[in-house]
Amino acid sequence: MSEPGSTLTNAIASRRTFAIISHPDAGKTTITEKLLLLGQAIQVAGTVKGKKGPHATSDWMSMEQERGISVTSSVMQFPYRGRTVNLLDTPGHEDFSEDTYRTLTAVDSALMVIDGAKGVEDRTIKLMNVCRLRDTPIFSFVNKMDRDIRDPIELLDEIEEVLDIQGAPINWPIGMGQFFKGVYNLYTDTIHCYTPGQGAVLPDDKRIQGLDSDEARELLGDEYDDFSEEVELVRGASHEFDLEQFLAGKLSPVFFGTALGNFGVREMLDDFVQWAPAPLGRETTSRRVSATEGSLSGFVFKIQANMDPRHRDRIAFMRVCSGRYTKGMKMRHVRLGKDVKIADAVTFKAGERVLVEEAVSGDIIGLHNHGTIQIGDTFTEGEDLQFTGIPHFAPELFRRIRLADPMKSKQLQKGLQQLSEEGSTQVFAPINTSDLVVGAVGQLQFDVVAYRLKDEYKVEAIYEPVNVYTARWVDCDDPRKLEEFRKKAAEHLSVDGGGHLTYLAPTRVNLSLMEERWPDLEFRATREH
Ligand code: GDP
Repeated sequence: MSEPGSTLTNAIASRRTFAIISHPDAGKTTITEKLLLLGQAIQVAGTVKGKKGPHATSDWMSMEQERGISVTSSVMQFPYRGRTVNLLDTPGHEDFSEDTYRTLTAVDSALMVIDGAKGVEDRTIKLMNVCRLRDTPIFSFVNKMDRDIRDPIELLDEIEEVLDIQGAPINWPIGMGQFFKGVYNLYTDTIHCYTPGQGAVLPDDKRIQGLDSDEARELLGDEYDDFSEEVELVRGASHEFDLEQFLAGKLSPVFFGTALGNFGVREMLDDFVQWAPAPLGRETTSRRVSATEGSLSGFVFKIQANMDPRHRDRIAFMRVCSGRYTKGMKMRHVRLGKDVKIADAVTFKAGERVLVEEAVSGDIIGLHNHGTIQIGDTFTEGEDLQFTGIPHFAPELFRRIRLADPMKSKQLQKGLQQLSEEGSTQVFAPINTSDLVVGAVGQLQFDVVAYRLKDEYKVEAIYEPVNVYTARWVDCDDPRKLEEFRKKAAEHLSVDGGGHLTYLAPTRVNLSLMEERWPDLEFRATREH
């Protein structure tokens, strides 16, 4: 089915693709649920698959549940006020931060959720730093107003100082905790009154037009004068919302509310679909691809093992960057130079896989991966493009991996290779020995790898300490120099899962020494796919 170009343009313009960044426990799962409720993607709150959800379909998931973390992530799409919203979930546990970073390369904006009682926490700072690399526009939601939170003015200051972004409050809270009465919109001069206990429904809240009204005076009672003064102060001392500054990633509109009480989320979403950018262009090694180009292109930012152990395939998540995917179309897998017909791309609805008939720029589709797709791969309708900026980070922890049963080394290699393609762990094969070294950014990933090797590949693996401080990807324009280095430093050289030469430095001092001794070589801490 082919639509006229203007329909494609309209479809693309309606997309809003974002992710939530927050510290664990700030309320990401809760707000996600309310957003889906508002998007009518679920009927009753309390049905979102979260870390406490009833959605375990395998032992692998029960391990995740035991740990109280969300290892897996998915894509949620819902219509809202004429827009199509794509919300990309990110893993909550910091051991899986690489996945989160890469997911942030696939969005056009982000929503930062802050626990009002705790303020700006570490993981939020780290994720904001990632967003800043691409000047991603950020919405802010200060959550848990139904509790005793910190002084809102202080919170606003903290956002500005710690996160180095201007905060423009859109609404201002009236009271907090048990005295929380609602929020006052600084731009529309309306009070939105809070009624507790409406978290599971779409409440029809009471609104009061005008702070200077009898109704407002009645609601605020003795606090009326103090509140009016505070509002004057806030208006004078804070930044005014500016769309251009927001789109440049320099200013964030700030909303106050309670996700649990489903209060303030709708107002935030209303403004979000208006202000957040439609799909943005993306850089490739040869040119910038605009989201409105007619021809399909996209890149893979995440590979996820199927949660259903009966199908052993994995899903590669591709962000569509231009044009349109239609079921059965031919795509070029650029790295392999191969044309493939794709008729079974999937998306996820309420945890179920659904075949995608059509997807446009800004959408995410899941491609079945039987071991040929890697993170960072580009697909097009024939043009040789390679999207850039999808990072791979040097792991920080290393273990040698040994088999309980040496006869199973084939399975071990296959398992490690596939797990490393998913991108959350990395495997290195030293060029001098037949050992295998696994690298990860967090301890938990080692446990996950051991568990999945056993569960999915039937191999029992044992970890041993290994003397590696860090890994650096080695590059050099001069092949002779590289060959010389390969000989001299063989003892510490490995090949990673993608076939790249990697230096496994035993100590920090050793690494500096090598960098000094081999000035023509590049020792990279991140590698782009
Ligand atoms: P996540 O780790 O960021 O996904 O956080 P959750 O959404 O799971 O929330 C963490 C805890 O905070 C849960 O017990 C929630 O019920 C609670 N919570 C979330 N939002 C609110 C809120 O607005 N008010 C209150 N009082 N609790 C909240």
